[in-house]
Amino acid sequence: MSPTPPRSKFPLPLDAVVQRKPEPARTAGMPAVGAPRPAGAPAKLRDKQPSTPTPAASAVEARASAATAGGGGMASDRARGALAARLRAGGIRDERVLAAIGTVPRHLFVEPGLASQAYEDAALPIGHQQTISKPSVVARMIELLREGLPAATPLERVLEIGTGCGYQAAVLSLVAREVFSIERIRPLHEQAKANLRPLRVPNLRLHYGDGMLGLPQAAPFSAIILAAAGMDVPQALLEQLAIGGRLIAPVALMPLPGATGQTVTQQLLLIERLNRHRFHRTALEAVFFVPLKSGTI
Ligand code: SAH
Repeated sequence: MSPTPPRSKFPLPLDAVVQRKPEPARTAGMPAVGAPRPAGAPAKLRDKQPSTPTPAASAVEARASAATAGGGGMASDRARGALAARLRAGGIRDERVLAAIGTVPRHLFVEPGLASQAYEDAALPIGHQQTISKPSVVARMIELLREGLPAATPLERVLEIGTGCGYQAAVLSLVAREVFSIERIRPLHEQAKANLRPLRVPNLRLHYGDGMLGLPQAAPFSAIILAAAGMDVPQALLEQLAIGGRLIAPVALMPLPGATGQTVTQQLLLIERLNRHRFHRTALEAVFFVPLKSGTI
């Protein structure tokens, strides 16, 4: 018998925590994790209607009564709650972001051998020399995208570059109306699909491709988030940002001449699109991300 985990007081989904099942066959061909509204539909910048659950919220609510599979659900629920509390203590203020972190079962996005570390605030390896991002950094970046939005209001259309294992995409699906995510490493794209499949996130679409080119067929985006650091933000992404939209990215800083020790560091860059031609850039804290690379493998 599996006890029902305590429901999050926030009306957010994905709380039917699924135990990691034996690896599903990683077959290609599933075009998307879910089917949001057709690409090309106009992207309103920020939804003005209060208290609208995201499609993910309603879908998961619909199966909230489904039993969680086996024991461990309660433990991971508690661990997630503790992680969210820790991020709040660390300065994350956006309640919708905290609720999403407290909802997404991060242990399902890492190898079983690392599951016990899944609720630590740490980056972990996901293979192919890539990492699952640190929860506090995921929360911070999404909070910056949502700045000024009340918890009840989702972001509108979001593009993520660097799906990796799919964790941040799942978090985004709870704070945005629709999410598109691109990954350039085929096996990671397939892994993300497999990881996300049991969560059945209806408002998330995964794409295999070079995220430096963006996703013109779904543009403009009200928010763009890069999970890998380039020397600068690719021009195509700036062009695909809606006016009034926000982009957050780690970017590499060149070392000062004569600098010794660690040669290159990165910092978060927040870009707001003011009008067709003007972008406002704000440099924020130092971070460490895997590199943004062009092409696909
Ligand atoms: N979003 C992930 C983080 C993955 S790490 C999470 O939830 O934790 C960053 C990912 O960016 C890697 O998987 C890497 O392959 C990918 N990446 C790097 N350059 C890219 C590009 N040009 N297009 C798409 N993905 C890219």
